Amino acid sequence: MEGCKEAEMLRSKDILWLDVPYRAGPVLCGDQEVDVAIVGGGFTGLASAYFIKRRFPNKRIILLEAEFIGFGSSGRNSGGVAGNMGHNYSNLKKKFGTEKMMRLQHLMKQCVGLVEQLIQDHKIECDYERTGRLVVAETDRQAKRLEAELRDCQQAGAKVEWFDRIKARQQFGCLDLKAAIRYPDEGIIDPVKFLRGMKGVVESLGVDVYEHSRCLRMIPGSPASSLIKLFTSGGSAVAKEAVLATNAYSDPLRLFRYKVLPFYIYTIVTEPLSQSQRDGFQFTGRGNVFGATNLYWARNLTADNRLNFIECDVFYYYNHEKDYSCRPKSFRREYDLMVRKFPFLKGIRVTHAWGGLIGVTLDFLPFIGRTGRHGNIYFSAGYNGCGLAPSQLAGKIIAALMAGEKSDLTDNVLIGRKPFYIPSAAVTYLGLKAYRSLFKLNDWFLGGQG
Ligand SMILES: Cc1cc2nc3c(=O)[nH]c(=O)nc-3n(C[C@H](O)[C@H](O)[C@H](O)COP(=O)(O)OP(=O)(O)OC[C@H]3O[C@@H](n4cnc5c(N)ncnc54)[C@H](O)[C@@H]3O)c2cc1C
Repeated sequence: MEGCKEAEMLRSKDILWLDVPYRAGPVLCGDQEVDVAIVGGGFTGLASAYFIKRRFPNKRIILLEAEFIGFGSSGRNSGGVAGNMGHNYSNLKKKFGTEKMMRLQHLMKQCVGLVEQLIQDHKIECDYERTGRLVVAETDRQAKRLEAELRDCQQAGAKVEWFDRIKARQQFGCLDLKAAIRYPDEGIIDPVKFLRGMKGVVESLGVDVYEHSRCLRMIPGSPASSLIKLFTSGGSAVAKEAVLATNAYSDPLRLFRYKVLPFYIYTIVTEPLSQSQRDGFQFTGRGNVFGATNLYWARNLTADNRLNFIECDVFYYYNHEKDYSCRPKSFRREYDLMVRKFPFLKGIRVTHAWGGLIGVTLDFLPFIGRTGRHGNIYFSAGYNGCGLAPSQLAGKIIAALMAGEKSDLTDNVLIGRKPFYIPSAAVTYLGLKAYRSLFKLNDWFLGGQG
C-alpha cells in the first residue's frame, strides 16, 4: 500500500484530489482596510465569499487561508454531494420532532441544488454526476433500521426509494442484501476541481484570496468601535465584518472550542479498476453506496474509475495541535474491510490514503450564526462529515444574515442555536470515547463490521 508511513507527515500527493499541480495565490502583505474578512479557504469560506459578493458587489472582501485553498477537509473528502444534516431523518425526528424535521428538510433539499447551480452558472469542470446514494442493509436488523428511515424520510417530504430483498440485489448484486434505500437527488464530484473553480469565480467577482496567510490573532470590535482587526505574520486587516470559516480547526476567537469537536476520519483510494473488477460489484455507475450502520463503510468510483473506500470510524485526539492525518493502521484496516466485502478486489493497489478533520456537534447539526458585541462576526462550522453541499447553503445564509433578511434562511433551527458544550478537554476526551463505544456497540447489534 502506498501513502504515508508510520510517524510521517501526510503530503499533498497522498491525497488523490490534491495530487495535481497547483500554484497558490498571493500572501497577505501590508495593512488593508476592507468591508469583510473571511478566515478559512474551504467550501464554507469560498461559499461565503461568493454569496456575500453577489449580494453586495461593492463590498471589498478578502479571504485568508492559512495554507492553500482546500488544505482542510474540503480538499480531503470523498466527493459525496448530499444535503444531509442531523445524521439521518430518524435521528432528526427523535431529537427535534416532526415539525422541525420538516422545516430542516426544506433547507436540506436546497443544498445539492446550490452546488448544481454553481457548476452550471459558472461552467465549473469538476466531474459532477447526479448518481444518487444507495444505503444497503446486510442484516435484518439493518433492514428494519432502513424501514424506519424510509418512513421518516417520506414524512419529511424527502425523495427516497425503497428496494426489498430482491430489488436490492438487483441494484448492488455483490452483497447478500436484505433491503436498500436510495436517495436519487445526490451526486459525486471532484471536490478540489470544484473548490479551485469556485476560487476562480470569487476572484473574478473581485474577492482577494490570500493563501499561506494564517490569521494569527483577531480582535473583535471594542465598545467604541465595531471594527475588527486581523493579523497574519506578514500583514494585517481592519474589517467592518468578518466570517469564521475554519470548521474543525481552532478559530482565532476560540468560538468553536468544545462546541465543534475535531474528529479525524480516514480514507483510501485504489488504482483505476479494470472492467472486470467494476463488473464485480454488479452495480452500474459510479454512485455512492453506504452501509447502514452508524460508523458506516462507503464506496464510490472517481471519474477515472478508482475506488474511494472509507470506513467512517472517527478518532478524537487529546492533543489538538498535532496533525494525525497519516494513520497507516486505519488505512490497513480499511483495506482489509474493503477486501472482505469485495473479495474480487484482492491484491488491488492503494495509490492514495489520507485522513482529515471533520467538525462534529453533539446534536449533529451545523452551528451557524453571528456573534460579537456588534453582531458583525458571522460563522458556520460543524457539518458532521457532510459539509460539501450544506456549506454552500451556509454561505447563502451568512449573506442573508448580513443583509438583515427575514426569511426561512435566517429564521430556522440552525441559527442562533446554543450547541451542547463540554467545558473541559479531559471530559470531552473521555465522554467522546464513551460515545464512540456506544456507536460501536449499536453497530455490533445491527450486525455491522464492528
Ligand atoms: C475523509 C473525509 C471524507 C469526507 N467525505 C465527505 C463527503 O463525501 N461529502 C461531504 O459532504 N462531506 C464530506 N466530508 C466533510 C467535508 O469535507 C467538510 O464538512 C467540509 O469540507 C467542511 O468545509 P469547511 O470549509 O467548513 O472546512 P475546511 O475545509 O476544513 O476549511 C477550513 C480551512 O480553514 C483554514 N484555517 C484554519 N485556521 C485558520 C486560520 N487561523 N487562518 C486562516 N485559515 C485557517 C484551514 O487551513 C482550512 O483550509 C469528509 C471529510 C473527510 C475528512
